[in-house]
Amino acid sequence: MHSTPAPLTDRFGRRVSYLRISVTDRCDLRCVYCMSEETRFVPRARLLTLEEIACIARCFVELGVERIRVTGGEPLVRRNVVSLLSELSALPGLRELTLTTNATQLHRLAPQLRSAGVQRINISLDSLRPERFRALTRNGRLERVLAGIEAARRAGFRRIKINSVILRNRNHDEVVSLARFALEREMDIAFIEEMPLGSIHEHDRAEAHYPSDAIAADLSRAFTLLPTTERSGGPARYFRVAGFEGRIGFISPHSHNFCDQCNRVRLTATGRLLLCLGHEHSVDLRQVIRAHPIDDTPLKEAIVDAMALKPQGHRFELRGVPVVARHMNSTGG
Ligand code: SAM
Ligand code: SF4
Repeated sequence: MHSTPAPLTDRFGRRVSYLRISVTDRCDLRCVYCMSEETRFVPRARLLTLEEIACIARCFVELGVERIRVTGGEPLVRRNVVSLLSELSALPGLRELTLTTNATQLHRLAPQLRSAGVQRINISLDSLRPERFRALTRNGRLERVLAGIEAARRAGFRRIKINSVILRNRNHDEVVSLARFALEREMDIAFIEEMPLGSIHEHDRAEAHYPSDAIAADLSRAFTLLPTTERSGGPARYFRVAGFEGRIGFISPHSHNFCDQCNRVRLTATGRLLLCLGHEHSVDLRQVIRAHPIDDTPLKEAIVDAMALKPQGHRFELRGVPVVARHMNSTGG
């Protein structure tokens, strides 16, 4: 007997159960791998309203999505984002609401986020050296981010994970210190290989590539890494570390492709539904929701139909012009 496939299943039999929502492409930092220096942000009038985001999210959950991550740009610079998070966390059927942030606003918002129902939080941190942190983010203050991390720890999230993008000759010599920083505070850490999204001018991505295996080799001189089959529902491969609670993960789009397990789609701040990080295939949900503001049916049909557009996988090339013109901040990383 055949069971009916879940409504959100793509042509390759992968079930989409995870939605990442970018609530803004704006950010108070300018990380060198994420944005070009002269980035122009989308005019506010083109953004989905918070009500539209909540409505699209509800439709996804009614179609079987179980986990939502709110991201950006920097999600915590969007006004009233906490009220959106409260609304999302109350959606019947949603099992988990998570957030990715650069932590610059956490010193003031961490308790409110926890009360709003955010369960897990990912925090980006690429260096523990103030000058280097400032150079990598083009203007960030490390002490403010560290204060934000402490505020998040006090607020009692179920799990905090540090995300570190590692670039050769910019911060690859810090992988042990970053891991120790996270593990000593009972946090997980994931090391990420840079993805070629949009043009950047400050470094050559092929030269800056520092593969996960090199990071693992550096780490194994300081820690005992124990392989696990644990996943957190995403592309990271995790290792336990002898003597610590936290785990070390690797997100390796170049060296260990993860597309066969892909369970996610992304909603950009302007309402484009992106079916894959590494392609431009998308559906304009803003146009659908504005054409049918009080009837969910066309929106749900558009979401279900979009599954047929989901490509088998990305084709990231570190050399040459990036296949994907949009930067990570307008993608919802
Ligand atoms: N502003 C928030 C933050 O930094 O956590 C959320 C959005 S940011 C785009 C989400 C994640 O994407 C961050 O961990 C960031 O380091 C990562 N990221 C940005 N550009 C990237 C790239 N080109 N390759 C790999 N990861 C990237
Ligand atoms: Fe901003 Fe996050 Fe991009 Fe850095 S990675 S510029 S913090 S959106």
